[in-house]
Amino acid sequence: MSWRKCSICKKDIPLGGIYQVCSISSCRKSVFCSVTCWDVHNGVMGHKSAWAEEEVAPTSLDETGGLRRKIIITGDASSRTTAAAKADIPRDILIVVSKLKSYIKARADMNTSGDVAEVLSDIVRTECDKAIEKARSEGRKTVMDRDF
Ligand SMILES: [Zn+2]
Ligand SMILES: [Zn+2]
Repeated sequence: MSWRKCSICKKDIPLGGIYQVCSISSCRKSVFCSVTCWDVHNGVMGHKSAWAEEEVAPTSLDETGGLRRKIIITGDASSRTTAAAKADIPRDILIVVSKLKSYIKARADMNTSGDVAEVLSDIVRTECDKAIEKARSEGRKTVMDRDF
């Protein structure tokens, strides 16, 4: 079943299928079936610094509204969120945002943008993955401080 049509070649993008969006936020309305079609768009628009981001279409039409809302709120982060949904790994924020903000405030009197916690959570996950591998290679079921 078709979800939307490619903005360039009008090919159907199926529900649950992979599609590309332009990294330029004002282009988010457009969807592309492939990087090739996004390239055509990039040529037409003459973006100076843009790339294609892979997204996964919702698996049912009911989800469309929710997904669209998510993209508007989270912007670039939506590609990370979708990629994780695919892999079935929880993508919760692992950082205590209020403490992070007060640390940066106290250290440098700077504000912290909302998506920092998400990027840091990704870093924490990457470090945890390494620690898990280390614990596993030593035959342990517990991740310990020395694994980091
Ligand atoms: Zn296309
Ligand atoms: Zn664009």
